[in-house]
Amino acid sequence: MQYIDEYRDPEAARTLAREITRVVTRPWTIMEVCGGQTHAIVRFGLDELLPKTVTLVHGPGCPVCVTPLEIIDKAIAIAARPDVIFCSFGDMLRVPGSCQDLFSVKATGGDVRIVYSPLDALQLARQHPDKEVVFFAVGFETTAPANAMSVFQAKREGIKNFSLLVSHVIVPPAIEAILSSPDNKVQAFLAAGHVCAVMGYTEYEPLAKKYRVPIVVTGFEPLDILHGVLLCVKQLEEGRAVVENQYVRAVRREGNQPALIVMQDVFQVVHRKWRGVGEIPKSGLGLSKAYEAFDAEKRFDVVGVTANESPECISGLILRGVKKPKECSAFGTRCTPEHPLGATMVSSEGACAAYYRYRKPSSKPSSPNDSVGDPSCRATVCMDSPPVAAGNDDRKSDE
Ligand code: SF4
Repeated sequence: MQYIDEYRDPEAARTLAREITRVVTRPWTIMEVCGGQTHAIVRFGLDELLPKTVTLVHGPGCPVCVTPLEIIDKAIAIAARPDVIFCSFGDMLRVPGSCQDLFSVKATGGDVRIVYSPLDALQLARQHPDKEVVFFAVGFETTAPANAMSVFQAKREGIKNFSLLVSHVIVPPAIEAILSSPDNKVQAFLAAGHVCAVMGYTEYEPLAKKYRVPIVVTGFEPLDILHGVLLCVKQLEEGRAVVENQYVRAVRREGNQPALIVMQDVFQVVHRKWRGVGEIPKSGLGLSKAYEAFDAEKRFDVVGVTANESPECISGLILRGVKKPKECSAFGTRCTPEHPLGATMVSSEGACAAYYRYRKPSSKPSSPNDSVGDPSCRATVCMDSPPVAAGNDDRKSDE
């Protein structure tokens, strides 16, 4: 298969769902780690195609959701300075900090700009030598190579007015934190294909072995996801626990070596706090010693800023697969995309936003006549509509 339509073919989806139903003999819980996969699952009703014994839970794979509150507060403090041009992908501007968001800073005169690449921010630094240009470097291993490249290039050119506010997170330590949690329910993982396209999947192999958990590197289209679920279920039923690669058209075991080389030069592994989850040891990337002069936290002295999350928001439990969005008492009432209490609602890829968009009682499927249609199927889904526009996002942080 070469084209997107082929990965959304309803008949092929029904065949995969039937095969999963045929194979499964008992209940299993599988977590998809990526927010893009969560969105596809909810949008296309893939979870409702599955037998009731297979439960999909949503992991901490939305970069906007997991960016910690205090980093947003630090971004706001830096962006409010008159000498700064603050650059970010569009989806970060609406994420609430403790008191306001980056849009509010822009509305009150801050020079906050949406860019499509960190190299655009570097270009602004070249064009405005009288200003400090700061790029908000968030996301998973997917965005890290381009962000690393911008700093590498700035150092090579001797550009002094460019820096990164870094809040990168990495996936394997988060998987380990979920698996070692006493309330863990997850028995298998769909690992995010784009992360593995950069990193490969050798880091997942010791996790699969240590925790006896199948991990299937999976793509983002409906058939990818259903195929990933099938591979997980087969392993679980057969008592196997290895890493398998469903996304062979994009992922190699060793990853993208040129990207890894620049990442390893510019970044080092650091402890990182995840919004809603707390600190996970060695779960982030920060600038390495050789590039610390480009660290905006140090340049603008915001290292000590701290913040407390709303006690009402249960996004931490949602991000660990312990609860689902509709189990939150604020869902759809006190918390909506227009007035989010937590980042899993503000981000268009967040689990709460996906459920709000597609699973509100008043929500209608994209095309009611396009049910995938197996009589045993609980879904009413359409796989023919074009990809969802990402809310008001101009550029996603991790795609
Ligand atoms: S519905 Fe809102 S308050 Fe509840 S978990 Fe989701 S983001 Fe948090």
